[in-house]
Amino acid sequence: MKAAAFYEYGPAEAMQYADIPDPVAGPGDVLVQVQACGVNHSDLDSRAGTSRWPFELPMVLGAEFTGTVVDAGDRAGPIQPGALVTALQQYSCGRCGQCAKWRPDLCAAFEVFGTTRWGGYGELVSVPAEVVVPLDPGDDPLVMAAGQCVVSTAWHMVNRLALVRPGDLVLIPSASGGVAGALVQCAKLAGATVAATVGTAAKAGQVAALGADMVIVREDGDIARGLLRATGGRRFDVVFDSVGGQLFGAHLSVLREEGTLVTCGAHAGEVVPLDLIPLFRNGWRIVGFRIAPPDDLSTSLELIRNGSIKVPIAATFPVSDAAAAHRFLERRQHVGKVLLVAG
Ligand SMILES: [Zn+2]
Repeated sequence: MKAAAFYEYGPAEAMQYADIPDPVAGPGDVLVQVQACGVNHSDLDSRAGTSRWPFELPMVLGAEFTGTVVDAGDRAGPIQPGALVTALQQYSCGRCGQCAKWRPDLCAAFEVFGTTRWGGYGELVSVPAEVVVPLDPGDDPLVMAAGQCVVSTAWHMVNRLALVRPGDLVLIPSASGGVAGALVQCAKLAGATVAATVGTAAKAGQVAALGADMVIVREDGDIARGLLRATGGRRFDVVFDSVGGQLFGAHLSVLREEGTLVTCGAHAGEVVPLDLIPLFRNGWRIVGFRIAPPDDLSTSLELIRNGSIKVPIAATFPVSDAAAAHRFLERRQHVGKVLLVAG
């Protein structure tokens, strides 16, 4: 098959659309012909060699894909060729002690598409049948690929980790990103009042269109003061931080007593300033997002299907030019998801 594979770490051009061996589908696997695959910030780190995952090269990236089953192993169960599907992005090993104790969420040996095994940046991907998530035949494969990761992540953060309640005041920094945009919509569905920040005025209108009640354009100076001015002095019940970086401490500082910050990403900086004194004086909670379980993914797919949550697609690129998609994402000028599509 053809795939955007990289044989060594490097810039976007390190990914070459090349002939690589077809993935092998075992008796319990299905072979999926990829129709669309989301591009993530973490893909850029993986390709550049700055990710903290160890990779076995060559690697085919792509954790969130949709496509059509073209072959199914003898023990693959009810999933048959022709079915439109997606898959869990990561899944437990099924063999370790934690898995044996029925705690797959604590498995230390997760398999991750595009990290520990080849993902959706190619024509075909082999998927264990038990992690296949069937889609409806009428679903748009691009819309589902764009939304499956970001909406399930956001849904889990809002409803399972932060326990957002109607009337809560929620801050979502850098809300032009994929997860952050879904966070805006999930928090609104939960009944919150949402303040979002953006880096440039050009992005403000698009974030407001997602439902944010307040959109604050970041300027040089005291962001915490600017946020509290925008809320009339009311402090935030919850902060959803999908970027990290040097503003982490400022975003934490606008929480109310015993407020919660949930973190799920760090492309603005992985090591952040943190003042411990106000953290414990205020009883703030910092919660790490780990994984959205399958039931949250199912809920999220239904919310996308029925139009409750929309994930803007910023751009699509043919998988044969995945390098261009990476360069586009690196410029950080867009709002919404970047997709690779077949062809
Ligand atoms: Zn395990």
